Amino acid sequence: MLSEPEITVSERPAPFFPPENEPKNEPAAADERYPIVLSFVGDCTLGQDINTSHSFKFSSVYEKNGPEYFLGAVKSIFESDDFTVANCEGALTDGETARYKPEDGPKYWFRGPPEYARVFSAGGVDAVNLANNHVMDFGAEGYEDTRDALAKAGVEFFGRDAVLVKEIRGLKIGFFGLSTSSGASLIKEKTDELKRQGARVIVASFHGGLTEISYVPTPSQIFAARAAVDNGAMVVVEHHPHVLQGIERYKNGVIAYSLGNFCFGGNVNPSDKDTMILQVEISEERGEIKCEYRAIPASVSSRKEYNDFRPRVLEGGEAARVEAKILGLSEKLVDGGAEEPSRQEPSGDV
Ligand SMILES: [Zn+2]
Repeated sequence: MLSEPEITVSERPAPFFPPENEPKNEPAAADERYPIVLSFVGDCTLGQDINTSHSFKFSSVYEKNGPEYFLGAVKSIFESDDFTVANCEGALTDGETARYKPEDGPKYWFRGPPEYARVFSAGGVDAVNLANNHVMDFGAEGYEDTRDALAKAGVEFFGRDAVLVKEIRGLKIGFFGLSTSSGASLIKEKTDELKRQGARVIVASFHGGLTEISYVPTPSQIFAARAAVDNGAMVVVEHHPHVLQGIERYKNGVIAYSLGNFCFGGNVNPSDKDTMILQVEISEERGEIKCEYRAIPASVSSRKEYNDFRPRVLEGGEAARVEAKILGLSEKLVDGGAEEPSRQEPSGDV
């Protein structure tokens, strides 16, 4: 039985966010639009595996609580920033036909009905990445349904073939999404395309790495992320390993190797519920754009003993623990990554 969790959302830290009620009709200083704040979260599976035998699942929680419930404890953060991006790890479709997967591929088919796209819009998520190993679980038709459902809910998307350019307070920010197994030339193709469309800031979203719990990125994850920065990306977020991995500064960019799960209907009780909201603050100094970041420690669930699919910001000792964990994982990155598996689960653009 699911009772309504008691949630306290952390107050947003004052110095970091742009002031509300900015004075209007005044001659704008050159960079009054800054800082621009972007938020990123990891895997959101709005629905569950079609073969799940649990009676407690994402769908039953949706039926009982509606779309507002799921991101209700983090919504104030997503609505106070300038743009919020998640990874849509599953199809939003009523289609029944699960896509054939090779034997060594994923064993799960994630699906929720199209109306579940409202979880994103009700929760303040502005755009989602679609380059991952589950958005095609119900084939081309399921993918089409997913894009239609997102568009209908007013949620933008990018990934696979689609790039997105968004003008945020006068600054053009471009987004692309690929698998971490993408080669350097494909990555360059995407950054070039976004530059041609006028993007001054490029955000790369990569899906890949190991699915069994792995806190260290694979060489492919590192290669893809750094190749994106080498080609002009400023922010790189990765996902797929289901747990957090470290964050690094590389050249002019910031790379988060795994954002972990976020609103994740794929597992009713993941052993590691730690996650984060990565916030990137973009500003400009003498014509040069730069970014700062911070990780807001969070949990995928408001309940410790199971996953209630309602992520929350952590506080006090729990927040300090996850902060220390992220720092520790980030320090480990100098070692250069985990061994690449011999058989890697297809993770995007598949
Ligand atoms: Zn995945």
